[in-house]
Parts: sequence; C-alpha cells; structure tokens
Amino acid sequence: TPLLEITKLTVSYDGTTPALHEANLTVAAGERVGLIGESGSGKSTLALAIAGLLPRTARVSGSIRWQQTDTVPRKGTDIGYVFQDPAGSLDPVMRIGAQLAEILRVLRGKQSQLDVPELLARVGFPDPEIIAARYPHQLSGGQKQRVAIACALAGQPRLLIADEATSALDTIVQAGIVRLLSRLTADTGSSLLFITHDLALASTLADRLVVMRNGRILEAGTPREIIEHP
Ligand code: ADP
Ligand code: ADP
Repeated sequence: TPLLEITKLTVSYDGTTPALHEANLTVAAGERVGLIGESGSGKSTLALAIAGLLPRTARVSGSIRWQQTDTVPRKGTDIGYVFQDPAGSLDPVMRIGAQLAEILRVLRGKQSQLDVPELLARVGFPDPEIIAARYPHQLSGGQKQRVAIACALAGQPRLLIADEATSALDTIVQAGIVRLLSRLTADTGSSLLFITHDLALASTLADRLVVMRNGRILEAGTPREIIEHP
C-alpha cells in the first residue's frame, strides 16, 4: 500500500523558475527509495516539500497524499529527517542524553515508547551511557550522524528521509551508516528515502531508484534497470 503519493508537485523559490517541476512519486510502506541526481537537480526540494520544511516564501502546487488521506505528514512522528550536517540536528551546548530526552519529552503523549538508552542502542552504540554523557563536539563525524539518526527515530516515523546523510563521511564510516539505515528500516518496517548523488551507494540499499535532473524526475526503476539503461 502507498504510504506517500506525490502528484504533479511543483516548487518555485523565486516565483518564476521551478526548482521542482511536476514531480510524481509514490513510496510504498516499507519501501527503500534511492533519490539520485547531480547537485542542484531538485532532490532536497522534493524531500523538504514532503516534510513540510520548505521556506514559507516558496510557491508549491500539486498534491502530497499521506497514507491515502488528505492529511499532511508531521515531522517527528510521521517523518524523521536526517541532514547532511548532523550539526543541524544537534545542540552544541547540550549533552547527547539531554537532547534525546528533550525530543522524547516533546513527543510523549503523541507516540514514542522509546527511551534514551534504547534509542542510542538502536543506532549502534554498545555503551549508550557513555555517549549520552557527551557533548556533540566529543563525538566523531560518524558518531554524530548516528545520534542525528537517533533524533529522527525518536518519534518512530513511518518514513525516514536521509538527505546526503553520508556524503561528508569517509567511505568506511559511510558504509556503516548505510548498513544501519538498511537494518533499521527492515527491523521497523518503515520506508526510507535515501538521497545521494552517488549512484553506486544508493544501489546498495534501494529497492527502487528515482533519477532527477533539472528539477524533473527522469526515470525510476530497480538499481539494475537504472544501471543497465543505455
Ligand atoms: P539538490 O538537492 O539536488 O542538490 P536542490 O533541491 O537543493 O537540489 O536545488 C534545486 C534548485 O533550487 C537549485 O537550482 C538550487 O539553487 C535552488 N534552491 C535550493 N534551495 C533554494 C532556496 N532556499 N532558495 C532559492 N533557491 C534554492
Ligand atoms: P525544537 O525543534 O523546538 O528545537 P526538539 O529538537 O526538542 O525541539 O524537537 C521538537 C520536535 O521536533 C519534536 O516533535 C521532535 O520529534 C522533532 N524532531 C527533532 N529532531 C527531528 C528529526 N531529525 N526528524 C524529525 N523530527 C525531529
């Protein structure tokens, strides 16, 4: 069943040139979609539109249907968002444990049954207490990105969006994060929108690849179909 159905979605930041032009995209429950394309092709614009994170001045037309209703997905409980720079999700002057506790506190009553040690364990920290006591600057780039993923998972979202979430990391760390995203989505049955300019990396975890260029969706298919396409 479709979790997300996007029809003729057009976004313009300046009122004239569209950064996204009549995009159609469906994401099924549990599906892992790799969104690929060169820099400036409109990938982030599409992701931000889905998550309701576009600047208020952006002009948007077309439709976004969530779980076959006319409600918009909510950040946190419907959608978890992981940015390229984990600093965007982390407060530099708060300990990791306190930040996660704060996000869980905000979500309490809405949904989350998780706690801080459990969240940190889920993203692959064998000693959650040690990490919880640290500040962001005391963690490596890969560790910070794992914590940012923990923030995004706090509300147990149905869709995880990772926007160039591994692009700033070296390849070994990158592979670890990709494995983590793959395992997390398989364990929870949530969907994944994995955005990257790296076709090979996207192919390692995506069920389906969607290729963008110049604000348009050019083609979609399995990694094999896309790679073998002439
Ligand atoms: P990608 O994620 O594929 O790199 P983006 O969606 O970020 O592409 O950008 C698509 C186009 O929209 C680019 O031409 C970019 O310069 C423009 N753009 C992105 N964000 C903004 C913004 N906040 N204001 C104006 N133009 C923007
Ligand atoms: P604020 O956004 O006001 O700084 P918090 O960081 O404590 O406060 O989070 C508030 C809300 O944002 C919560 O509903 C939480 O689920 C949501 N949230 C925080 N980080 C993310 C994320 N990476 N992805 C999705 N939702 C998030």
